[in-house]
Amino acid sequence: MKQIHASSQRTPIYREAGFKFKSIKEAEQAFIDEGKNPQSSPHSIYTRYGNPTVRATEAIITAVEGCNWSLLTSSGMSAIDTALSIFQKKGQANTWLFFSELYGGTNAYITEILDQRRGIDVKHFQPSEEAYNLAELSEVLDRMNPGVLFFESVSNPLLIVPEAKKVIALAKKRGIKVIIDNTFATPLLWQPLEDGADIVVHSATKYLAGHGNLTAGVVCGNDSALINEALKYRKYVGCILSPDDAYRLGTQLTTFELRFNKQCENANLMARALSENDKISRVLYPGLASHKTFQQATELFGKKGSGAMVTFELKGGREACDAFVHAIGDSIPYVPTLGDASSTLLHAATVFGNKYPDGMIRLSLGCEPYEHLQRAVSSALEQV
Ligand code: PLP
Repeated sequence: MKQIHASSQRTPIYREAGFKFKSIKEAEQAFIDEGKNPQSSPHSIYTRYGNPTVRATEAIITAVEGCNWSLLTSSGMSAIDTALSIFQKKGQANTWLFFSELYGGTNAYITEILDQRRGIDVKHFQPSEEAYNLAELSEVLDRMNPGVLFFESVSNPLLIVPEAKKVIALAKKRGIKVIIDNTFATPLLWQPLEDGADIVVHSATKYLAGHGNLTAGVVCGNDSALINEALKYRKYVGCILSPDDAYRLGTQLTTFELRFNKQCENANLMARALSENDKISRVLYPGLASHKTFQQATELFGKKGSGAMVTFELKGGREACDAFVHAIGDSIPYVPTLGDASSTLLHAATVFGNKYPDGMIRLSLGCEPYEHLQRAVSSALEQV
């Protein structure tokens, strides 16, 4: 049969569950190499252990995050689970400290899995007046002596930015492992590993993929001992990203920088426009001087941007939110995700709990022409 030759710019999708070996000897060697050093083993054995398509996309993320290694997982939540679990050791009873303003799913995982199932001593560090106080944190670290500290670089949905470099320094001085969920900031605003974090995680479902069409997570680091732990965990729990999704993520990453820069620009313009609307009582956006962590955001992100999320509160509470969501309709649809190339919104209290005011809307800005967004939002606000 005539061979058809094709070449591709990308690593193709390897859908094989297991890879073919020429002999027992070759297979035996592959298992030995993988056992000794899984990250640099030259063989593909079984997709749950590692896959060429997945590795190709991991290499792109490693370059974007500016780190030594990245491992793709089936979701942002499994990335968080992997990152935390590699620090859990038999017989080691220490405290894990979490900043309290986190994505609701992460907080539920902390309570229902870490605390109630695994019996880990989890503690929460609360912000005071929507900002984290360093002196208070320093005192808490001394008192609790946690093994792990976990926080988001920009919190969901209040968009609190901690004095992250100083937080890392406080933790490192005490030998505490630091894990940062960098989903909202993305590596374009900040690369935490460069400032001493041990592990960075992303929900790649969001800005990295950016089209609301796949669920993925990534764990990134520099330390080679940690990648071996993370690889082992991912292999035995079986939470590697599928080759199909890895391929699509790799393709979509091509436009990540373009998308995110435009999204940040739209968010900045929208935050300023919303601040001037008299139906709105307050706008939370770390690029506005009125935000409680404006200074922290400016120090951490410089002139690179302030993220692409804007949270605001309608004076008319839940009723006004219902009217706003109805009026804006498909121009900015209600979709409980974020980071897509198209703008989306959600109602904070009914998704994340009623500790948030019932007039609060979280807006994820997309890449649409800003004038379209502005027109849709102004017209919907007029109908509130
Ligand atoms: N981290 C943050 C900051 C998130 O917003 C989310 C989801 O919204 C996650 C993690 C979980 O990601 P995934 O839905 O991909 O599991």
